[in-house]
Amino acid sequence: MKNSLDILIIGAGIGGLTTALSLHEIGLKSRIFEQAKEIRPLGVGINLLPHSIRELTELGLQKNLRGIGVEIDELRFYTQYGLEIQRESRGIKAGYKWPQFSIHRGELQMLLYKAVQQRLGSDCIRTAQTAVDLTQNNDKVSVSFKDSNTGQNLTTQEADIVIAADGIHSTIRKKYYPEEGKPIYGGINLWRGITWQESFLSGQTMILAGALKTGKMVIYPISQPNKEGKTLINWVAEVKTDSYKNNEWNRSGRMEDFAHLYAGWQFDWLNVPLMIENAEQIFEYPMVDRDPINCWNFGRVVLLGDSAHPMYSIGANGAGQAILDARTLAGFLKSLDNPLDALKAYEANRIPTTSAVVEANRGDGPDHLLEIVAERAPEPVDDIHSIITQKEIDDIGSKYKKITGYDRETLNNRDSIVI
Ligand SMILES: Cc1cc2nc3c(=O)[nH]c(=O)nc-3n(C[C@H](O)[C@H](O)[C@H](O)COP(=O)(O)OP(=O)(O)OC[C@H]3O[C@@H](n4cnc5c(N)ncnc54)[C@H](O)[C@@H]3O)c2cc1C
Repeated sequence: MKNSLDILIIGAGIGGLTTALSLHEIGLKSRIFEQAKEIRPLGVGINLLPHSIRELTELGLQKNLRGIGVEIDELRFYTQYGLEIQRESRGIKAGYKWPQFSIHRGELQMLLYKAVQQRLGSDCIRTAQTAVDLTQNNDKVSVSFKDSNTGQNLTTQEADIVIAADGIHSTIRKKYYPEEGKPIYGGINLWRGITWQESFLSGQTMILAGALKTGKMVIYPISQPNKEGKTLINWVAEVKTDSYKNNEWNRSGRMEDFAHLYAGWQFDWLNVPLMIENAEQIFEYPMVDRDPINCWNFGRVVLLGDSAHPMYSIGANGAGQAILDARTLAGFLKSLDNPLDALKAYEANRIPTTSAVVEANRGDGPDHLLEIVAERAPEPVDDIHSIITQKEIDDIGSKYKKITGYDRETLNNRDSIVI
């Protein structure tokens, strides 16, 4: 019975595509409807922690990821003056059974898209179809679509289950939470860029530096070296300000709005002003999220990924939590006889974790270390331990890992979610 379920996924982003692959793995068919006119490699860098790499590995994709991403093996924290605060191993080097990868978001989406086409057939993803509404009765959900090119109404699609993976501006979430309004701005604006240049430090290092008040930076490589030996470096300037624009992933950013904050950041391991100056692309995006909600499942409809729990892009969890949602949903659909019970079980399992990540990213994320240090030492100091103990530093990191399901012992020893 379950094998004949007709499942419709709205949105071919990271969450929607991983869901289709995971359903296929357990023998369930799905169809994806995407509003974009074509699937193109949009965005800049993202990080995938071992918890989500475990899931993509179980989907047989680790080798492909290795071909396009970079295995991050250390994370370093610096003050705005270039003093090292903390250095920690990541991924396999830190004892996880799975690596951490940094990768171009668009390349990741294309990798998942191709895998879906190969495994489910090229006709399972329909583009230029914008979901506008849905209705349901005891047996079916009917979703209405518009043609993204012409705006004309398209044939209504019927399905047994609808998974809404339609991102931070989710139409389906809005249907169930009509009063919610726009995503919430927390006072931090982002300029995200990519630059081809020589790699820095180990070539597999991720950097968090500075502090929000004076300008913070997250920097990591996202490609293998090109023919000239240059690597694509992803950087994000995070600045505390009341001034911001609506969140659109592809809004261009201007160097003159933020580069002056980093003028003095010429360190022996990286020339930050030069990196900003040589950017291929710069986007401006406000750090936004939404308050956690306590219901994702409405009869035969369920929310997944950013539509369910949009979060600040802190701590490398946005894409990862969408991947974990997809796997958890597939796991329950596999283990429970009644698919509607599986939707409920998925919701009950995922809401507590993802709500805790949303909350932690608002204040208690790993980056919190930088704020503590900047507050205690607004002027340069010679010895970091004169202002913060190693125990305090370690406690901040381990607390966040526990919240996000990325704690090493838990992850290494728990059973697979799907297999
Ligand atoms: C164009 C784009 C660029 C991004 N760039 C970055 C980045 O550089 N760094 C970063 O950290 N995160 C980026 N993100 C967000 C990141 O991908 C997500 O936070 C995370 O991966 C969770 O994935 P998701 O599948 O839930 O949402 P998303 O990856 O946002 O995917 C949602 C999908 O649903 C589609 N969709 C939306 N509404 C409808 C509708 N009504 N009908 C049909 N389809 C619909 C969207 O076009 C999109 O393909 C980007 C997202 C997008 C859409």
